[in-house]
Amino acid sequence: MRIERDGPYRYRIPRQGAMRVDAVFYASPDIARDLKAEGDQALHQLVNVATLPGIVEPAVALPDIHWGYGFPIGGVAAFDPRRGGVVSPGGVGFDINCGVRLLCSDLTREELEPRKEALADALFRLVPAGVGSERRELRLTAADWPRLLTRGAGWAVEQGLGDPGDLECIESGGALPGADPDRVSPRALERGGSQLGTLGSGNHFLEVQYVEHVYDPEAAEAFGLFPGQVTVLIHTGSRGLGHQVCQDFVDRMLAAARRHGIELPDRQLAAAPIESPEGQGYLGAMAAAANFAFANRQVITAYAREAFTRAGFGPGSTRLRVLYDLAHNNAEWEEHGGRRVLVHRKGATRAFGPGHPDVPARYRAVGQPVLVPGDMGRYSYVLAGTEGAMAETFGSSCHGAGRRLSRSQAKKVARQRDPVGELARRGILVRAATRATVDEEIPEAYKDVADVVEAVEGAGLGRRVARLRPLIVVKG
Ligand code: 5GP
Ligand code: MN
Ligand code: MN
Repeated sequence: MRIERDGPYRYRIPRQGAMRVDAVFYASPDIARDLKAEGDQALHQLVNVATLPGIVEPAVALPDIHWGYGFPIGGVAAFDPRRGGVVSPGGVGFDINCGVRLLCSDLTREELEPRKEALADALFRLVPAGVGSERRELRLTAADWPRLLTRGAGWAVEQGLGDPGDLECIESGGALPGADPDRVSPRALERGGSQLGTLGSGNHFLEVQYVEHVYDPEAAEAFGLFPGQVTVLIHTGSRGLGHQVCQDFVDRMLAAARRHGIELPDRQLAAAPIESPEGQGYLGAMAAAANFAFANRQVITAYAREAFTRAGFGPGSTRLRVLYDLAHNNAEWEEHGGRRVLVHRKGATRAFGPGHPDVPARYRAVGQPVLVPGDMGRYSYVLAGTEGAMAETFGSSCHGAGRRLSRSQAKKVARQRDPVGELARRGILVRAATRATVDEEIPEAYKDVADVVEAVEGAGLGRRVARLRPLIVVKG
């Protein structure tokens, strides 16, 4: 594979073989070396994406890129419907609208400390975690579905789970347009029906943190962040419902690709023209699943607020304002370079710059908040979107640190150690459904998110605003 260095933190894979457009990836020298190493599949997957019909130059990968189903995780691909552009479930991922939501309290770290254990216990009790976690009190009836799947977080607020004001700082107002509940299979509804308001397994979490460092005081003030402040980061998606939607369409898309004469270098890239019945069907179902995920994060927010109250914090400090809620697995219609394109982001987030109309009014002068989780032992970041991202990456940035070790490799490393004890000695309380999850999720399983963020900022795709340190981690 021919790769050219294209500036600091920026590499280009010029069009070669069956590629229709160039691909670009962003990386620090260390990350680039790992990506180019023999046996790493992520860049090959990026090249495969660049062969798909109607793709708009360039195919993009961010520094948290790693192997995924068909499309790499950490990738962005935009398609033009007027040039035969396609939509692909693999370009969105199995956990449709997996994403993160940051809540900020009025509490300082010192005020939290005396009730930290109580809060950890209350959160673990109230927020169901684990593979098949269910919350039975919230069983949905057939009558709930159409409204839930079209109104997303707004539906949860209507049920009394949150305030109308919460919706202002959620991407797309907490509901993707174009949802078609009729495209969601009975099996998907069945799987999701008992899982609304649950975290799910492994990589999903609820983390209580504090603002350890502010890089950009002006942007931090606009976001409502101050040093020492307690925040809560929620990471989860559309649970079994979204997984089943993806599953339902993968096979159909493979047949559609054959019918439309689309050559696929990898079956996992199964795709159909955006305007085809299969393409439209998937997009309607995907938006419905995305709305389930927005509702899920909204319900968990209500549980988190309740947990703060149960742990004995007064009403003034338990408000937990929604700073932002950001999707990192979806496909959305956006305008870039004067064209309306369908932007797939898989393990990548929006990072719209200052002045963009889709940035909430209160943040518009500084750019969109970009939430970048790291791992449960080190830190996470809040960035602001930039003009650079608008110009280069279809307004996108990284979604996390990205995995460095596979789950089984991480387990092997963790087995000889006591990860929960190690973290507790550093003041981080872990509450997890199983020991296995903790082992798979040890900090060393991930890249150092500081390196990822350095590359993102160095390439002009985001601006550091604040760094957050974990205090309590609830893991699925
Ligand atoms: P993904 O959606 O790709 O599974 O994960 C997003 C990112 O979340 C990962 O790349 C990783 O950097 C981060 N992450 C995973 N577990 C934790 C955790 O327990 N705490 C924090 N702060 N970040 C995590
Ligand atoms: Mn997920
Ligand atoms: Mn995720």
